[in-house]
Amino acid sequence: MSKISDYYSQLAASIGMRYDSENDVIYGQKEGFDLILYAADSRYPYTMTLHTAAKTPTGAAIHKDEFKVLAKNVKNLGVGSQEGNNITIPLTGSVNQKKLRDSLASVATEGINGLISFLREKGCSPCCSLCGQPEEIAAYKSGGSYYHLCQKCETNMRGNMAMEAQKQAQKKENIAGGIVGAIIGSLLGVVCIVLLSQLGYVAALSGVVMAIGVLKGYELLGGRLTKKGIVISIVIMLIMTYLGDRLDWAIRVLRDGGGADVGNNLFECYRMIPMLLKLELIEMTAYIGNLVLLYVFLLLGAVPTIMSKIKEKKEEGQMVRIGSAGGYGSHMN
Ligand SMILES: [Zn+2]
Repeated sequence: MSKISDYYSQLAASIGMRYDSENDVIYGQKEGFDLILYAADSRYPYTMTLHTAAKTPTGAAIHKDEFKVLAKNVKNLGVGSQEGNNITIPLTGSVNQKKLRDSLASVATEGINGLISFLREKGCSPCCSLCGQPEEIAAYKSGGSYYHLCQKCETNMRGNMAMEAQKQAQKKENIAGGIVGAIIGSLLGVVCIVLLSQLGYVAALSGVVMAIGVLKGYELLGGRLTKKGIVISIVIMLIMTYLGDRLDWAIRVLRDGGGADVGNNLFECYRMIPMLLKLELIEMTAYIGNLVLLYVFLLLGAVPTIMSKIKEKKEEGQMVRIGSAGGYGSHMN
């Protein structure tokens, strides 16, 4: 178990809820309200969001001002919001992650109690996120969003998603278009390499920009991004990083190396780079060193981007039930 999983499972136990380690979501029920607790941004695992589905007696959404009053009255609740029947409220307490970690159990308990009494006060009743019926519900995660669904809405949603997935799969991948898109996207990375270098930096940022630009470009003009598309994109990233570096040297030759003084333009300077290396007017070690550094940063920037893209692809069209190992819904004592 990872450190965070360990922490979450202890937290769940101490606030009387259960922990779904597969999805990193803490879930449970209190006074009939189906509750989940998760980190909206996994980089800040101790900044958690409280999520339930409920509706007011009139069916109108709770006004932002009322959430503001709630946040004022319960110090561990941030300003919440309601979208459809979904109510989300961030748990605050402290902006300091370490402090938050030490106090999260009491922050969560107070937050949950505060939210439940607020909902009771407004006469809200628990319901399904989608149809709003007071059916028995369970929590689901789908495409990065969370829902509390009755069995009927769950079935509908799965059906819609299967149809959508089929439509996606039928879309043809246009490789030529994808390559053009990737090259256009890679220009952003090239610009980034050159600009950063002119400012005196080599940074992982250019790797991230290169990776996002190429993958996004491929997907936009290629219709969809398959494994083949990812491989092609990686090759384009490698080539364009080389070209970006060489362009950067060409600019230096033009500006500082006297290229402009003898009447050469940027294109001519670019073509002269191998000759300048041969004549040792550009030091080979500096040239190779810079290129290696750019490739290291491409690796640092591109690998997480590609991994998250692959993960996103995998989660697309997937719908998982929170705590699927347990029974339908779960009750707090
Ligand atoms: Zn429903």
